[in-house]
Amino acid sequence: MKFLNSYNFENKKVLLRVDFNVPLDKETGEVADDKRIKAALPTINYILDQGGAVILLSHFGRPKEGKEDKYSLSQILPCLEKCIGKEVFFSPDCIGDSAKQMADSLLPGQVLLMENVRFYKEETQGDINFAQELSKLGDCFVNDAFGAAHRAHSSTTPIASFFPNDKMMGFLMQGEIDNANKIMQSTAHPFTAIVGGAKVSDKILIVENLLLKADNIIIGGGMAYTFFKAMGGEIGNSLCEEDRMETCLSILSQAKERGVDIYLPIDSIIADQFSATANTKNSPSDAIPQNWMALDIGAKACIDFETVLLNSKTILWNGPMGVFEMEAFENGTKSVAHAVAAATKSGAFSLIGGGDSAAAIMKFGLEDEVSYVSTGGGALLEYFEGKQLPGLLALEN
Ligand code: AMP
Repeated sequence: MKFLNSYNFENKKVLLRVDFNVPLDKETGEVADDKRIKAALPTINYILDQGGAVILLSHFGRPKEGKEDKYSLSQILPCLEKCIGKEVFFSPDCIGDSAKQMADSLLPGQVLLMENVRFYKEETQGDINFAQELSKLGDCFVNDAFGAAHRAHSSTTPIASFFPNDKMMGFLMQGEIDNANKIMQSTAHPFTAIVGGAKVSDKILIVENLLLKADNIIIGGGMAYTFFKAMGGEIGNSLCEEDRMETCLSILSQAKERGVDIYLPIDSIIADQFSATANTKNSPSDAIPQNWMALDIGAKACIDFETVLLNSKTILWNGPMGVFEMEAFENGTKSVAHAVAAATKSGAFSLIGGGDSAAAIMKFGLEDEVSYVSTGGGALLEYFEGKQLPGLLALEN
């Protein structure tokens, strides 16, 4: 595997795959959160400083059929120029003669943004011919799109095969992998994984893989109630995936066999409707009255989880403890966020991954008090599930 700092970029046209799939403000149409753009700046600036020209490839949203204005990457240009601090050229097509001409005429130190690669359906099909067309734009290939590394799309995976000796990962990708490996290869115990969010089905594989590595697994959020139901509890209208109850029981018994401690929220904040203004009260999580639903973990659970976290030396957090988007149900997630920050201050290594946990840590202003906040949602999850990421693998072979 080649790295940026072992490559000579002088006078090279560098095809850089980034993840600029940023949210836009519905009213102004401006970039609402430039985190993903800023995350790519170290790589962009390094290549420019080394005398290269940068040709940016990205996807943006999920266009269905060909070009759609609302998915045009031209909308992010003002924000991109502001972040980079210089003019950025824009090519209205990502392949073809005019795209190639624009790429060819680029001078060292200049930046060109290509239109959304997903305007071609071949992109998500991982089409090799489309990858070849894209590859013609540059002399070398750098992949810094960690958020898309779990997809074998043309611009992330087959494209690399056209640069057998000139392909490498960018600084963001490298940082993501290094930090994820710090968790996966950690020898600092106790290792506590916090898994939350809505669905058990989304998190089964990660929990099963963590059973091989973690000392403690804290399970919160909507997914916890399928566990309570599986154990014979009453959960009212709380989220439940009946077809996953067997899996929950199997996870609990595997944990017992392996000596992994599973922590479920002993109490919950329950509501009489899914609403920010619902009536709420505290309830044991396995005795929730009919017509009520658990939307956050309760005060006792917060203390239990905090005790485990403060005693941990390695922490992975994926998924909120409740419906943290509503103030009435944010407390559990906030309490866990503060406990992770406090454990980090005492020397633990903490990684926050997955879109919602990252959003939560930002909401509570604690992003600088944890060790690393990942930009990858699905990609990070798959990495922790023990899967090979095709985008990464393509850079190795
Ligand atoms: P995920 O994408 O699976 O990580 O789930 C994140 C979503 O789960 C967030 O939007 C939360 O609002 C939601 N969530 C967390 N806890 C609950 C709960 N107890 N009931 C319903 N939704 C929840």
